[in-house]
Amino acid sequence: MGQRSDDTNPEVDWAATLASLRTNFVEGSWERMHSLDEGLRLLQAAPADDAALQILRIAFHGFAGSGATYGLPRVSTLALEAEHACVDAMARGGAVSAELLTTVRRAVDALRAELAAAAVVAPGTPAAASGPQRLAALIVDDDPGLAAVLMTALRDEGLAPAVAGTLAEARAALRGTLPAAVVIDILLPDGSGFDLVREVRARTGGARVAIHAISARSEFLDKVEAVHCGADAFVAKPVDPRAVARRVALEARLRVQPPGRVLIVEDDAHQASFLRSLLSAAGYDVTICADGRLLETTLAEAPPDVVLMDVRLPGVDGFDLVRYLRQDERYRLLPVLFVTAADHPEQELAAERAGGDDVIAKPVAPAVLLTKVATRIERYRLLQSLLEHDGLTQLLTHSALLDRTRQALASARRDPERHFAWVMLDLDHFKAVNDRHGHATGDRVLAALAGLLRRRVRPADVIGRYGGEEFALVLEDLDRTDAVRLVERLRAEFADLEHVAPDGSRFRCTFSAGVAMATPGMNGPEDWYGAADAALYAAKRGGRNAVRAAGDPAAGPA
Ligand code: GH3
Ligand code: MG
Ligand code: MG
Ligand code: MG
Repeated sequence: MGQRSDDTNPEVDWAATLASLRTNFVEGSWERMHSLDEGLRLLQAAPADDAALQILRIAFHGFAGSGATYGLPRVSTLALEAEHACVDAMARGGAVSAELLTTVRRAVDALRAELAAAAVVAPGTPAAASGPQRLAALIVDDDPGLAAVLMTALRDEGLAPAVAGTLAEARAALRGTLPAAVVIDILLPDGSGFDLVREVRARTGGARVAIHAISARSEFLDKVEAVHCGADAFVAKPVDPRAVARRVALEARLRVQPPGRVLIVEDDAHQASFLRSLLSAAGYDVTICADGRLLETTLAEAPPDVVLMDVRLPGVDGFDLVRYLRQDERYRLLPVLFVTAADHPEQELAAERAGGDDVIAKPVAPAVLLTKVATRIERYRLLQSLLEHDGLTQLLTHSALLDRTRQALASARRDPERHFAWVMLDLDHFKAVNDRHGHATGDRVLAALAGLLRRRVRPADVIGRYGGEEFALVLEDLDRTDAVRLVERLRAEFADLEHVAPDGSRFRCTFSAGVAMATPGMNGPEDWYGAADAALYAAKRGGRNAVRAAGDPAAGPA
């Protein structure tokens, strides 16, 4: 069994070690800051200069990759967002927008402030003890009383909230870096909050913002409209500000980047404690497995992003354990770093042969450990994400989709009050589109539909490419009527979309959809999929370009 404990070993002066690492990082950062200033200066002087964007991109990238390693996750978040903005601008080409200039300027200022704050942390203060970094939040509400209580509640949850009373003020506040969370009243004096939600979602990094919509009167709160514009949750007044703040803060934190998970396989309690202290101070989620025989159970219970494997364990050899592990499909790609007693060249060879990714020598140098762990986790996550996403549409692949579906079905069983809908979409007469305009144009239609789905459902909803021209959605917390209404809107919107053929002519395309709710009696995803598919088939039979729900007359079983 994996044990998670929080006691620290007083004999190990890890706090001082980490503090000095962090000081080194911050001191070394000023040169990178200088590159950012230089890049920004060049960009202002010549806004169409790709070289300036390139300098900025590289400098931001450096901060994005290293900040979290040294206990400064906000540095990583800020830099990552700015890096994405630069990459997007380079892809678009031409002169950069005033908006990008502002984004870059604000990111540079915010980074400088973060580093300055980190530089004055008292020596010896471990990163973890300085508390989690405050994430920015924006409250958009014209009711000053409610705005004030929300402000306090969000602050208590560790966020740094600002308030806007109108749409115009909110737009101004959002001009620079996006906050991690937005709580927005949908009825504002100068327009609808839904428009703002749509604008946020359309921005670079906008999908990561946790957005909660609130409404003065429940009849004004259109759930479907809220989902359609991309809000994560909606609450009718009277609002419980504590509950809203708690939920939005949790989502914001998870969204910024879930902490990397490290599994330490080590029988020596002191060594394990030393490694854990170092890694948890750097923000990682650490599990210890002291007995090699329990490795499999531990892996299944808390799947890690990287394993630190001791070589000499009682009763087993770490090399043998890894060799065994690699036979399991699920752990083929899992990064394993062997921690070995000394620098014996033959041990490195044995590590390679056993399927290890790298070797870390004892006594472990913190900088080496943190750097190796950070790069392995980054690569592993990238690889996982590539494997889980379809190349053409960037949606979940068939098998990743089924994994998520199983999870949704399990949640539905645990909590029968909650609604989960499976939506199956199939393009109408798509073969004819290919025949008429060519396969490449057909591909662009598929990508356009994927883009529409991504923009129009919440980040928490599951969107996958079920097969060739078939897509599936798993929608949370919408009942049957609302799920059908949402899909109906998607259908109408897609049917309206114009595509361009190679000869320059324009054409439209439609899809049919079947919706099925998860029910406790379902044995597995097959039942669920079957019900949605039967409804889809009914939509096709009825003439296509239509949405049907399972349980409707002539739409198959409920
Ligand atoms: P229906 O309305 O009954 O669904 O008609 P349909 O023509 O869409 O259905 P059918 O199943 O006969 O054909 C599906 C077509 O989708 C055939 C196949 O070439 C095309 N298709 C599947 N995957 C892709 C893809 O990745 N790219 C392109 N361009 N076409 C694809
Ligand atoms: Mg040992
Ligand atoms: Mg099909
Ligand atoms: Mg089809």
